[in-house]
Amino acid sequence: MQKNKKNLILIVDKHTESLRQLGELLKSLGDIIFATSGKAAHFMACHRKPDLVITKIDLGDISGLELCKRIKSHRESKECSVIIVADAQHRELELAALDAGSVDFITAPFQPAVMQARVRTHIMLSRRQNLLQVLADRDGLTEVYNRRYFENQARVELKRHFRQQQPLTLALLDIDHFKPYNDAYGHLQGDLCLREVAHAIGGGSRRPGEFVSRYGGEEFAVVLPNTNIQNAHKYGRWICQQVLSLAIPHGHSATVPFITISAGIATVIPDASTTLENLITTADSALYLAKESGRNQFKVAMLERETIKEAG
Ligand code: GH3
Ligand code: MG
Ligand code: MG
Repeated sequence: MQKNKKNLILIVDKHTESLRQLGELLKSLGDIIFATSGKAAHFMACHRKPDLVITKIDLGDISGLELCKRIKSHRESKECSVIIVADAQHRELELAALDAGSVDFITAPFQPAVMQARVRTHIMLSRRQNLLQVLADRDGLTEVYNRRYFENQARVELKRHFRQQQPLTLALLDIDHFKPYNDAYGHLQGDLCLREVAHAIGGGSRRPGEFVSRYGGEEFAVVLPNTNIQNAHKYGRWICQQVLSLAIPHGHSATVPFITISAGIATVIPDASTTLENLITTADSALYLAKESGRNQFKVAMLERETIKEAG
C-alpha cells in the first residue's frame, strides 16, 4: 500500500562520482538512495523497495545483470523495475539485460534529458503496475490480502516447507459475536471494526513470508512460515491479546464487553501428501474447539501423517 509514497530511486555504481552525478540529474524525480556494490544494492532493494533501480554493469562483486536477476526473482524485491546502464563496450549485453528482466537498457554517454524522460516513464509504469497488483491481491475493505492471494501463496509456502522439511503454521481467526455487534452498532460501524481488527492482526508481521488475509466475512487466515508448535502457541496468545487490547467496546458480547477473537491454529511439517485443504480443515476444527471452550482463546493442533493431534 504505497499509493501516496514519494518516488524512490536506487542508483548502483561502484564509482561514487558518477553516482553523485546521476543522483543530481534525477533528484527532481524522487528521493535518491545509493549503493556501491551489487550485494548491498540487493539488500536495499529488499528493504527499501524502490520504484526503480538503475545499475551499471560492473559493480565489483556481482554484475549488474546478476543484480537484476536477483531483484526480479526475490519475493521481497521483484516488484522493483530495473534499468541497466552500460558503457559503449558493453553494448552487446542489451539482449541479456532484457532477458534478465530489466525494463530498459541505456548506453553511456547518454543525453541527460533523455535519461530523465525514460526514468520518469518507467517510474509511472512501475507504480501503475504495482497499484494493479495491490488491487488484485488485497481485500478492498481491510487492505489485508484477499482469499485468492492466500490460496495461491499458502500453496507456495506448503511446497517450500515440504522441500525444506520445516514446520508451517496456519491460524484461522474469527471475531467473536460479530453478528450481535453489527445488529447493535450497525453495519458501517461493523466495517470500521473489521478494519481496525485487520490492521491490528496485519501490523505485526515478524518473519519473512508471514502474511494476513481475509478468509471470509469476519474471518482471517494468517500464514506463519517456519513456525513450530511452541511458537504457534506464542502466536495464539499474542494475537488474542492484540485484539483484546484494542479495547473496542462490545456491549452485546456474551464473552467480555469488548471485541475479541477466537483462533484455530494448525502446524505441520508437510509430507508429499499434505494439502492446503488438510491444513485448513485442521485449523478449522481447532477454531471450533476454541469457540466451544468459551471464545477469546486459541487452540493449536499438530497435523501429522494421517492423524491429527490436539496440542493444547
Ligand atoms: P461467533 O462468535 O460464533 O463467531 O459468532 P458471530 O456472530 O461472529 O458469527 P456469525 O457467523 O453468526 O456472524 C458473522 C457476522 O459477520 C454476520 C455478518 O453480517 C458479519 N459480516 C461478515 N462480513 C461483514 C462485513 O464485511 N462487514 C460487516 N459489517 N459485517 C460483516
Ligand atoms: Mg465466522
Ligand atoms: Mg464470528
